Amino acid sequence: MNLIILGPQGSGKGTQAKLLVEKLGLVYLEMGEVLRELARKKTPLGEKIASFQSQGKLVTDEIIAEVLKSFLTEENFKKGILFDGFPRNLSQTNLLEDELKNHQVKIDKVIFLNISFQESLRRLKARRICPTCGANYNLVTMPPKNGKLCDQCGSQLITRSDETDEAIKERLGVYQKETLPLIEIYRQKGILLEVNGEQSVGTIHLEILKNLGS
Ligand code: AMP
Repeated sequence: MNLIILGPQGSGKGTQAKLLVEKLGLVYLEMGEVLRELARKKTPLGEKIASFQSQGKLVTDEIIAEVLKSFLTEENFKKGILFDGFPRNLSQTNLLEDELKNHQVKIDKVIFLNISFQESLRRLKARRICPTCGANYNLVTMPPKNGKLCDQCGSQLITRSDETDEAIKERLGVYQKETLPLIEIYRQKGILLEVNGEQSVGTIHLEILKNLGS
């Protein structure tokens, strides 16, 4: 089974994706994280990606196509892939369609975690990350036990470079302009599963599983 998970920043895509990957044994492609890993490498490509990310802008489709190559293999499609953070605009949707045709596979469902703009903003502002081990926290929904320190390694938590007020505004704008129109495309194809993302993590997970027939 191949799935896409879509929704605004802060909708809980990563949390739900990880639960689904574990439950269904899928290969997980978290595009934002793959790009952050490349950015950390400080190569010319990494520096280019870091610059797009820190401004909250989408990286170019050429870079995305390059990253995808190593993921869209027969072996991964056999296991099933969960796409998180991709596709993010119309040209990426077309790119994915071409790749799916080449491999004679399809997307079974597109899970849309819907939350309001206000809720998205509130959750993003509360997000913190550990610069040492990469653990994620949210001061509202998933606070660290020990003030501002990482539960796992004790490092001082920081705000992601693309979670400044400016970058958040830019990212939500890009989402509304470029990603939201994809929802209608998948709705018309009859494969959209829309879920209220403001429910509890467990309730959302069960609702998704029920609709996938798993
Ligand atoms: P995310 O962690 O999904 O919020 O992504 C963080 C950042 O990575 C985005 O603001 C973009 O700069 C970049 N990014 C992630 N996925 C994509 C994509 N499919 N296309 C272009 N840029 C992306």
